[in-house]
Amino acid sequence: MTDMIRVDAHVHLYRTREEGSTEKRGYEVWEYGTQTDIHETECVGTVDELLVQMEATSISKAVIVNLFSAKVNRQIAVAALPEQLTESEKGQRLADINAWIRDEIISFNRWNCDISRQNSGLVPFVAADVNALPGPLCAQHVRDMVENHSAAGVKLHGAFQGFDMSDERLWPTYQVCQELAVPIIAHSGPDRDSKGFAEPRAFGRMLKAFPQLRVVIAHLGGGSWAQTLEIAQTYPNAYFDCCEIIEWTRSTNGPTDQQLAQLIRDIGPDRVMMGSDFPWYDLDHSIDRVFSLPLLSQEEKERIVGANAVEILGL
Ligand SMILES: [Zn+2]
Repeated sequence: MTDMIRVDAHVHLYRTREEGSTEKRGYEVWEYGTQTDIHETECVGTVDELLVQMEATSISKAVIVNLFSAKVNRQIAVAALPEQLTESEKGQRLADINAWIRDEIISFNRWNCDISRQNSGLVPFVAADVNALPGPLCAQHVRDMVENHSAAGVKLHGAFQGFDMSDERLWPTYQVCQELAVPIIAHSGPDRDSKGFAEPRAFGRMLKAFPQLRVVIAHLGGGSWAQTLEIAQTYPNAYFDCCEIIEWTRSTNGPTDQQLAQLIRDIGPDRVMMGSDFPWYDLDHSIDRVFSLPLLSQEEKERIVGANAVEILGL
């Protein structure tokens, strides 16, 4: 019975405790403004931590939307270069960094697929990044991950990765996803430089150009949630998860519980999925938050916590 199933549609995992805590430290959730009592988890995103929380909450499937930013990795590596390099030494070092980044995204994605093979409850969505894999390489890598490593979808984070969701360098990757019928889960929200790369409006051109592609606009628009309803009403291939934003409903920029529930109502509750955004928040708290929303029926909330993800993501 799919209506009994519980799914976490948005989880991040890291290969080591160190990798998880470094990423958490370097990733500030700023867009909602301030909120005094934000519920955060102590976890850092290891597989074991997640499995314990899944067991405790009867969540049988978790979608692993791993995040990789060539831009951020490159910035850190370039800042660590010694100062007195000649131009040619510098050129060589930059080429080495680019090669390392290419290898790194591929091995991170392979790891995601490998752990998902070992744990039947994990569903791997692999990172795609045209700044790591330029030209045709990104689409080729995604095809390889889906066809040969059982990747179930693709994860994007335009604000963190530094490209627009409708950047045509992504078109071949979108084409592959549409052709192979695998969905994309993409972060949405404002970016620090106000480029609008991942705001709901930035998804318009890609949703229009790839009408068969299922695109999950994560966080319901996040800090730019006021743009979300229009995109939902214009593009039937847009879907949503309510993670992160649901933890910030007493913040200065986020919606209230009432506004969030109304937004889900207006979009259509069958197009919205629950996620935890673990290891930023806890799975049990994410479930509680959905069930505490006003305006939605018990049945609609139960679907948000499981059955919708089964249908939308084809689990
Ligand atoms: Zn996330």
